[in-house]
Amino acid sequence: MNNKTKIAILGGGIGGLTLAIALQRKYIDVVVYESAPQWKPLGAGLGLAGNAVKAFREIGIEQDVLKEGKVIKNVVLRNKKGKALISTDSEEVSRRFGVVNNFAIHRADLHNVLIGKLKSGTVQLDKLCVDFEQSADGVTITFKDGTKSQADYLVAADGIHSIARKKLVGTGKTRYAGYTCWRGVTDNLPAGFNPDETSETWGQGARMGIVPLTKDRVYWFACVNAAANDPMMRSLGPVDLLAFFGDFHAPIPDIIKQTNKIIWNDIIDIEPIKRFAFGRVVLMGDAAHATTPNMGQGACMAIEDAVVIANLVESCPDTEEAFRMFEEKRIRRTTKIVNDSWQLGKMAQWENPLMTSLRNMAISLVPKSVTDNQFKFIYDVSLK
Ligand SMILES: Cc1cc2nc3c(=O)[nH]c(=O)nc-3n(C[C@H](O)[C@H](O)[C@H](O)COP(=O)(O)OP(=O)(O)OC[C@H]3O[C@@H](n4cnc5c(N)ncnc54)[C@H](O)[C@@H]3O)c2cc1C
Repeated sequence: MNNKTKIAILGGGIGGLTLAIALQRKYIDVVVYESAPQWKPLGAGLGLAGNAVKAFREIGIEQDVLKEGKVIKNVVLRNKKGKALISTDSEEVSRRFGVVNNFAIHRADLHNVLIGKLKSGTVQLDKLCVDFEQSADGVTITFKDGTKSQADYLVAADGIHSIARKKLVGTGKTRYAGYTCWRGVTDNLPAGFNPDETSETWGQGARMGIVPLTKDRVYWFACVNAAANDPMMRSLGPVDLLAFFGDFHAPIPDIIKQTNKIIWNDIIDIEPIKRFAFGRVVLMGDAAHATTPNMGQGACMAIEDAVVIANLVESCPDTEEAFRMFEEKRIRRTTKIVNDSWQLGKMAQWENPLMTSLRNMAISLVPKSVTDNQFKFIYDVSLK
């Protein structure tokens, strides 16, 4: 690429902002168009695994992100009564695989760090893209407010409902996973709460995750099998969730009761697509490979994508070729994670009592070599 090239990014989410930082660090001219009229406080938490931290390190912002995060120490999978089925010393695993630790962070804190790393004026808010056209000379982007903008290349980081994916791949369809999810953050921690344990508890058709954050806060998520877009599920408040989680082990019912505000959404992904690169336009992050959250890898993959795109754009004289290389490099990894996460979610949401007790027994017998292979796959990411 020549040094006058301008890259436009659609979407100022985790992926788009990370890409903008990575490109600016390589002195590449970049602008982010974000549809939101203003930044809203972003709810709930996020797990950032060692692979995402590795990508942040590559662009020099790892320490700033980690300052806001809490190291994930012990990760435990429990049954509804609280019995540990499998327990992992996350710090020991990170050491063994040569990555900085896994972290949990509040989304708003991550967002603030990313925004703070950009040159002022990089992000234009209230810019909902409604269409774009590419020609031999560049890309013209059209916004809902009637304005247009020109760039040499366009990176679509516009999330799971990506307008760019709809236009380029012809599929805007998301897949409903069969379970719905509530998320919350509370600093009202019950007595005896262990801030060094991140856990997931699997019941029958219902599960709950607990993720300690900094500043004595805890992030939790709770999933229940349900019909898609059920207005009854949408209307539930924290106390109503005790109908599903009231008989889960301590401190689950108390954590739910002590949360004021919850966020609800159905769990969806997109069936893996076969192309990310389309001439001067490329899809990344959730726009390219939205996944169910069961492996905690959606944002991690978006962060990896951002760093890979920036590295390829810098090293490759032809940016369209860089986009094709990005697709080739990333499609197998992201497809595998989307598929594995889908399967994991199905198993975690089993309802049948016999099947769930067999499942729980089998989990406690999984050999270390199997889990080590999974860790190796996640952490051994190549970013160049
Ligand atoms: C319940 C739940 C829990 C999760 N937990 C984890 C976790 O622990 N770890 C993890 O790694 N991931 C997790 N994820 C996934 C993670 O949130 C996403 O993968 C990640 O946010 C994707 O980032 P993105 O930048 O690609 O897209 P988004 O974050 O969706 O950002 C897209 C941006 O584009 C903007 N936009 C959309 N359309 C337009 C348009 N037409 N014009 C302009 N702007 C537009 C949007 O306003 C938004 O700001 C979770 C997801 C869910 C639902």
